[in-house]
Amino acid sequence: MQELLELQRDKSFRLKLIMVCLAVALSVASIYTVVSYRLAADLVQSTELESLQGQAMLIHGELLIDENATQEEHLKKLVKLVYFDSHLTDSELYIKISGPNLNWSMDHNISLNIKDQLLSELPILNTSPTNMETPNGQTQIDGRLFLWQIVKDNNYQVVIIKTSANIENTLEFVMKRLIITSIIVFWLATWFAITLSSWMNKRVQDKNDSLAHLATHDALTGLPNRLFLSNLLQPIIIDYSDPKHKKYEEFYKKSPKQGCLFVIDLDKFKEVNDTFGHAAGDALLIKVAKKLNEILDDTQTIVRFGGDKFIIWAPNLNIEQAKNLIQQLIIACNEPVMINKLAISTGASIGFAHYPSQATEPDALILCADTAMDEAKQNRSGWSMFSERNIQSGRQRLKLRADLDNAFSNQQIKLHYQPKVSLKDGHIIGVEALARWHHPTDGLLYPIHFIELIEQSGRVQEFGRYVIATAIQQLDVWHKQGLYTPIAVNLSPYNLLDPCLLDFTLSLLKQHNIEENKLEIELIESETSINIDAISKSLNDFKEAGIKLAIDDFGTGMSSLSYISNLNVNHIKIDRTFIDGIDQDDRKQAVVLAVIILAKSFKSNVIAEGIENKFQADKLIEMGCHYGQGYYFAKPMTADKIQTILKANTALPI
Ligand code: C2E
Ligand code: CA
Ligand code: CA
Repeated sequence: MQELLELQRDKSFRLKLIMVCLAVALSVASIYTVVSYRLAADLVQSTELESLQGQAMLIHGELLIDENATQEEHLKKLVKLVYFDSHLTDSELYIKISGPNLNWSMDHNISLNIKDQLLSELPILNTSPTNMETPNGQTQIDGRLFLWQIVKDNNYQVVIIKTSANIENTLEFVMKRLIITSIIVFWLATWFAITLSSWMNKRVQDKNDSLAHLATHDALTGLPNRLFLSNLLQPIIIDYSDPKHKKYEEFYKKSPKQGCLFVIDLDKFKEVNDTFGHAAGDALLIKVAKKLNEILDDTQTIVRFGGDKFIIWAPNLNIEQAKNLIQQLIIACNEPVMINKLAISTGASIGFAHYPSQATEPDALILCADTAMDEAKQNRSGWSMFSERNIQSGRQRLKLRADLDNAFSNQQIKLHYQPKVSLKDGHIIGVEALARWHHPTDGLLYPIHFIELIEQSGRVQEFGRYVIATAIQQLDVWHKQGLYTPIAVNLSPYNLLDPCLLDFTLSLLKQHNIEENKLEIELIESETSINIDAISKSLNDFKEAGIKLAIDDFGTGMSSLSYISNLNVNHIKIDRTFIDGIDQDDRKQAVVLAVIILAKSFKSNVIAEGIENKFQADKLIEMGCHYGQGYYFAKPMTADKIQTILKANTALPI
């Protein structure tokens, strides 16, 4: 549609330009003709007048030198000699000669009326001038031009009035040539106008093209952008049954009958950005974009949709073919890319949707593929095809987002607690607070269902403060019962961007008379785009205030090492993926061992997460890991339940 409009706009612009140029050409030709005609007319008239003067002078001179000339016979001969025998034919002529004893006149073809009218207008001198006077001029009567000449001295006065066929003939002759010349001038001007208009049009077109390219392409990767995609899909995916689209049916006849749209989201892009900086992130995007583009054929289009999200539109592809293409895309995304001399594999989650079976509108198609991509990301399955189930989960997410208000105001989100134990003797060294949403209709919801919603809804700070306040209240309750077990809360790095969070925490601790070291912050850093520099000051302030720090899910995020080297953290929590199967997997043992050695050098304690059985616990003890957490010891439980265990002060079985 956009292109059609552009085309029309373009055409009308060109037409206007040509019209303007033609108008200029016409004006140039007209001005040229009029000016030339006027010049020619003036020239001919002045020449005629000069010749008339010559004739009058000749007659006058004859009167002066020849005595006989004053005789009528002689005068007639003289006039005949000058006029009738030569060029005077159809011209009108009047001659009047007067002098001492002489008053002779003759006319030829001239009517009495005109003669009288002319004579009344002429400056015929009644006085006798001392010097010879020769006034002349021209007068227009009844559309005819009369030239007149008077020659007078103190003896004779000669008056000649005549029309000049010469002028008309000459002007007719000039006019003919002028018309021919002006046609040539007009033609030249038109040719020039059209050449100029096409040149200008081309320049405007070039400028438009480069502006359109800028607007529809991503500056970093050079790939088309979101606007390009919508321009591309709008005409292709169009509902012809809708009467308002009917007129475009011819134009879009070639549009595909089916196609697949893929949404690709890189998995580790944020980590690359955080760890190596934005220049490295940019380099990664450029390389991935190039690799993906190379897989596609000429009919398929890849666009950068924003951030680390790409969209591919593959017309005519059926679902089976789409699955084949997805395999190639996954391989390309998993291939390591060299950034800062390091081979980095980002991986990607890809979702796709089929047109027209799953959606017929461009926005809906993108949404379907995006929802499928979300599912692939959550399940870590690499790729996913859109299905009705995705719609359900999309609807569920929307519903939960709407329910968040109530969750906050009615305190439906509660903290459950999971013990962290000493692997030596099974004693509880602290508990981790894990959020649970006690939803009025959906039952108990786990963080995976709502933490992301909270982050997306802009209520992260509110939630962070809520969790801290709830944990401190719990510490207060336990303190009053003589229980001094520390509580660790999970915070997202976004919370550390809250400039008043530390003051808020410290004033609450003070208010409840609780020591700072009873509160610990577990920082989840793997899924964030926030650079450590942005929050390291805030983390240091917490540390200096006496609040403990732990790095969560260690080993999954790429910035973990920079956190540890920059911050003196109290605990490093090894992610449960390394613990799962550690008793059999040598490589996992090697990683865990390395973390234990690393932690020692930073004087941090290691806590192994997700211990589910005795084998894992034994292996970890054998490797020198002092602390652990997992279902093997206890699952997360309500405050009341864990309070009973804490009160019993018994060691958990190892
Ligand atoms: P996390 O901080 O790594 O918390 C540990 C997660 O592992 C918890 O899941 C816990 O129930 C689970 N877990 C503990 N032991 C085992 C085990 O032996 N095996 C298995 N398979 N899982 C075990 P949960 O409660 O679903 O929490 C998931 C994540 O949600 C947490 O991971 C944390 O990152 C986040 N989260 C939880 N509560 C909060 C919170 O209050 N605020 C924020 N920002 N994030 C939270
Ligand atoms: Ca945690
Ligand atoms: Ca963890």
